[in-house]
Amino acid sequence: MGASAQQRRKRRAIVIGGSMSGLFTAAFLRRIGWEVDVYERSSVELVGRGAGITSHPELLEALAKCGAGTRNLGIEVERRLAIDRRGRIVGERPLRQILTSWDRLQSLLRETIPAVRYHLGRTFQRVEQDGTQVCVRFAEGPTERADLLVGGDGVRSGVRGQLAPDVQPAYAGYYIWRGAPNEADLAPATQASIFPHFTFFLPERQQVIGYPIAGLDNDLRPGHRRYNFIWYRVGDAQELEDMCVDEDGRRHEFSVPPPLIRKDLIARMRAEAAEIMPPAFLDALANIAHPFFTPIYDFAAPRLVFGRVALVGDAASTARPHMGFGVAKAGGDACALAEALRDCENIDAALARYDAERQPMGERIVLHGRKLGTFLGVDLATEEDRRMSKLLMDPGGQLDWIAVPNFLAA
Ligand SMILES: Cc1cc2nc3c(=O)[nH]c(=O)nc-3n(C[C@H](O)[C@H](O)[C@H](O)COP(=O)(O)OP(=O)(O)OC[C@H]3O[C@@H](n4cnc5c(N)ncnc54)[C@H](O)[C@@H]3O)c2cc1C
Repeated sequence: MGASAQQRRKRRAIVIGGSMSGLFTAAFLRRIGWEVDVYERSSVELVGRGAGITSHPELLEALAKCGAGTRNLGIEVERRLAIDRRGRIVGERPLRQILTSWDRLQSLLRETIPAVRYHLGRTFQRVEQDGTQVCVRFAEGPTERADLLVGGDGVRSGVRGQLAPDVQPAYAGYYIWRGAPNEADLAPATQASIFPHFTFFLPERQQVIGYPIAGLDNDLRPGHRRYNFIWYRVGDAQELEDMCVDEDGRRHEFSVPPPLIRKDLIARMRAEAAEIMPPAFLDALANIAHPFFTPIYDFAAPRLVFGRVALVGDAASTARPHMGFGVAKAGGDACALAEALRDCENIDAALARYDAERQPMGERIVLHGRKLGTFLGVDLATEEDRRMSKLLMDPGGQLDWIAVPNFLAA
């Protein structure tokens, strides 16, 4: 092995955030011979972040390339359906898609990293840099030094907050109610009608989506799976502010931890659902013991690199979730970063290449998400917005555009 390869082996990265983009980054950097430590602020293992994740070819490719693999990834559906209030099918498309879960991806990615390199209970506080090294301070303890700091710390990234404080996520003007009832609790009619498919229901300026995902501990056996339920609703900033007051009267800035969501909000949501939803989706909602809401935000940072600091995943750009592409984007960011560092001996040149490649990509995905969100009828500013909104209010438009693969190539 040559001198430069030996030198490369000594390079070290600190990754902030132990979720999707942090783990992808660690996995990819390890493959090019870097020493990587991941620091996650949560003091307990990240499990049960509930959500179902639509997969895309780019996600499968990133999982394969970084060494995590795609075994037992999830449930394959073969069809998409749109139904009306009475449950009748009003649109249909054949489309094979693997629906996975955040938990499954987390466990596959974690297996690529030695346990001693994954540090729980470490909260990023500040970074200082001198042109060739970063020095990172944590709330809980010792300072760490490395050649590179990667911020994979999500939409409210503290790393980005220090280096680009003006870059702030913007509220989209809508939020979702969600939850994942057990397959076994659903009525037989629900299990037979909507459960096996990627199903849409489209009341005016709303959207209900459901699809099957693995059960607890990635249980893929029929009867042991869950159903991912998502209900998009319009609500202005004032309404969101009110929703962010919890059961104890405390105000939260962005969203409320699920157990603290006010009971009156949940009761009102259930009553409103009863007015509009088809029986199968109502049944799914009735079997969610603790529904919770997530406000939708987006932004794209104008730069992803600040000296020896790079942003990846949601910290770099967060799109509205209509494409179901966030994790695939995180994998793509991490892969591009590692490939640039592999190909360029000079770290700064590699980071410049990463920025040039992935910043425009993040921006493009964010813009696409806004386009797909037009059916909710919020802030339709241009003729194109109104045309898109109309197209997507039609069941066929939804089946053709929402969370479909290969949208970047189209
Ligand atoms: C409703 C909804 C549905 C979605 N559906 C899909 C889908 O179907 N398919 C898909 O691909 N994507 C989907 N996404 C997007 C996907 O969840 C995100 O893109 C993905 O989780 C981003 O991963 P990340 O690692 O960049 O950020 P995150 O998952 O947010 O992780 C950031 C991590 O950083 C840690 N952290 C934060 N601050 C600090 C700090 N100061 N110090 C140390 N650690 C810190 C956090 O604790 C967290 O673990 C959806 C998102 C939403 C909201």
